[in-house]
Amino acid sequence: MIRTYGCQMNEHDSERISGLLEADGMSRVDDVADADVVVLNTCCIRENADNKLYGALGHLKSLKEANPDLQIAVGGCLAQKDRDLITERAGHVDVVFGTHNVDRAVELLDHAAEHGPIVEILEATAREDADRFPSALPTRREVDHAGWVTIQVGCDNTCAFCIVPSVRGPEVSRAFGDLVAEVEQLAADGVSEITLLGQNVNSYGRDLAVARRGESAADDAHWCGERWTGDRRARPLFADLIRATGAVEGIHRVRFTSPHPKDMRADVFAAMAETPEACEHLHFPLQSGSDSILAAMHRGYTGARYLEKLAAARAAIPGLSVTTDIIVGFPGETDDDFERTLEVAAAAEFDAAFTFVFSPRPGTEAAEMTASFVDHDVAVARYERLRLVIERSSRAANARRVGEIEEVTVEGPSKKDPAVLTGRTRRNTLVHFASPTPLRAGTYARVEVTDARVNHLLGELVEVTHAARHRTRIPVTAG
Ligand code: SF4
Repeated sequence: MIRTYGCQMNEHDSERISGLLEADGMSRVDDVADADVVVLNTCCIRENADNKLYGALGHLKSLKEANPDLQIAVGGCLAQKDRDLITERAGHVDVVFGTHNVDRAVELLDHAAEHGPIVEILEATAREDADRFPSALPTRREVDHAGWVTIQVGCDNTCAFCIVPSVRGPEVSRAFGDLVAEVEQLAADGVSEITLLGQNVNSYGRDLAVARRGESAADDAHWCGERWTGDRRARPLFADLIRATGAVEGIHRVRFTSPHPKDMRADVFAAMAETPEACEHLHFPLQSGSDSILAAMHRGYTGARYLEKLAAARAAIPGLSVTTDIIVGFPGETDDDFERTLEVAAAAEFDAAFTFVFSPRPGTEAAEMTASFVDHDVAVARYERLRLVIERSSRAANARRVGEIEEVTVEGPSKKDPAVLTGRTRRNTLVHFASPTPLRAGTYARVEVTDARVNHLLGELVEVTHAARHRTRIPVTAG
């Protein structure tokens, strides 16, 4: 059993760990009491990550006392950061591994079974170890028609609130050729929608020009794509990756997350506009609208610059939907700073936003700014005001879709009403719609939008356009 706490990167790592364990002969169980191995894949970005981990480990202790053969492994960001502290606080943990050795999960469990508890944390993913990127490992996807593709790991930025650079290391891009080959394999398996995943996707390839220097033309093509063979100073761009993965036969939708506004350039917008498979959705993290708070966060742009880039994106990509992340109450945020955030958020007319009240993450620069922490009640009151601004633009954006016919990928029956299907538009909005016949997840359909809510649309099926292509998974149980 694998429990995941955290972001999409972590969820994708969990899919890989799951794939490795299944390749080793294990099968998934739904009840932790039936498990021989429990892996907790941790995240230190989310609030109270360590409380959640040690709470879960406390729970597992009694299971381990009843079944000493149960193996418990802790991986992910928190493990990378806390290392030996985990086994010191929870002596019943068998394996602690980090973010750079996900591929070693099975070996470490075998080692622990024979020799006792082990902690193995590596410092960073070296370029020569590129085949150990999570994406290069066997996988067990949670959804059959959609797949994540990790294009880079780590981050070269120093956002004051973020722990990622210290737990995931510097940015390392995967070879262009490997990424295209992986997407071709996913398409061959019936996947029609991919999400290119990284901490700062639009700086993809920045490290590849140096990495390939002195290598052969064939290596150039492998690392940087055919377009760049013969130009030994150049590097592949994220825009090239959007075009190349969109061109893979069978791929119908290309998404990505997350880009950084500082590094976003017009060529990415052009690639999105010119690649029919690239969805009209941009997640564009604002974080704050105040220039002084953005500077304190080390974000590398101003509110005005952010809005300029957003205007360029909307001009290039008709119908673009834009979502964002905003932190309220970052240390030192004044009423005036917050007013700027409200102004920029209102001007940006976001389709949706993930808004957070600042909470310090141990190990980050912002966690040390205790002298300028914003009073929690003040931050919560600001958060409520921001929520209203976001809701207003979300509601208006969804209302504009009423009467439109949207292409929708079916995700399955609605959680609230199994008679209704839930799907997702190219603009990444959820749509609940009635269908006279059941449709498999991964089916593409045209749906007329009949009504709008703040967070979703309602609609009616017009026609099915593409059947799902992946094979149905039949559960196999050993007798
Ligand atoms: S860009 Fe900033 S927020 Fe994003 S992973 Fe890097 S340091 Fe963290």
